[in-house]
Amino acid sequence: MAGMLYLVPTPIGNLGDISIRCRETLEAADFIAAEDTRVSIKLLNHLGIKKSLVSYFEHNKAQKGNIIVERILAGETCALVSDAGSPAISDPGEDLVRQCAEAGITVCAIPGPCAVITALSISGQSTGRFCFEGFLSTAKKSRREHLDSLKDEKRTMIFYEAPHKLLATLESMAEVFGGDRPISLCRELTKLHEEVVRTTLADAIQKYTEQPPKGEFVLVVAGAPEKEAETITEAVIIARLQELIDSGLSKKDAIKQTSTELSLPKNEVYDISLKL
Ligand code: SAM
Repeated sequence: MAGMLYLVPTPIGNLGDISIRCRETLEAADFIAAEDTRVSIKLLNHLGIKKSLVSYFEHNKAQKGNIIVERILAGETCALVSDAGSPAISDPGEDLVRQCAEAGITVCAIPGPCAVITALSISGQSTGRFCFEGFLSTAKKSRREHLDSLKDEKRTMIFYEAPHKLLATLESMAEVFGGDRPISLCRELTKLHEEVVRTTLADAIQKYTEQPPKGEFVLVVAGAPEKEAETITEAVIIARLQELIDSGLSKKDAIKQTSTELSLPKNEVYDISLKL
């Protein structure tokens, strides 16, 4: 009988965040596939777990993926871990999940630490609808193209960022979204120096120009504001009033008809008609 693949999230800073289920799964697995075995061995030592480790990362995943799938098909259970957080989220794992699924292997994802969700929940931005954009390119042109594609995005947008690229990213964001767009910069989450700076893009640029950024960041950027309903309504009302007056109606009748057509109180339409 085939084994299984478990996706095991690991702490993004605070070692206390490893769950009982994650620990038990690591203990019970036949082998652990790790993004960087040197990083994972430290966590396993901390947990007192001795287990055979294989490396699985971006540049060996094609070859290692096949070996892992064969071992699982032969009956072994594999636990996949990344350096920190949830495997397969801006980390190796996506391809292995696909390969296993195609081979008919059961994949089980254990919920746990994930920087994107931790940042979103603490950001103070709207959480109802959001999109995760991962890392932006280091190349200015593709970074700009990526951001341009989000120009009209209304959902909250979440990005991963390294400190040395932060300022360039904030500057590109301000060019595309405008300097007054709200942003929450979530730094060193779950760690000693955890900090959330809730500000605007322009202020963030000023802050991190004066004080170079340190640590790991998640950027939670507010979506494009809805166009102000009032302004649209007012423009629509004025246009309709003008149209009716041009067609020969008296101002009084135009106000009456516009208020009926748009289901608006007559006095509101009257007030707006004063701007004509
Ligand atoms: N798979 C991981 C997860 O579920 O969060 C993400 C891995 S990705 C390679 C690493 C990026 O996640 C960092 O560059 C940073 O943007 C973000 N990150 C990870 N840990 C963080 C932390 N403690 N505080 C803030 N950001 C963090």
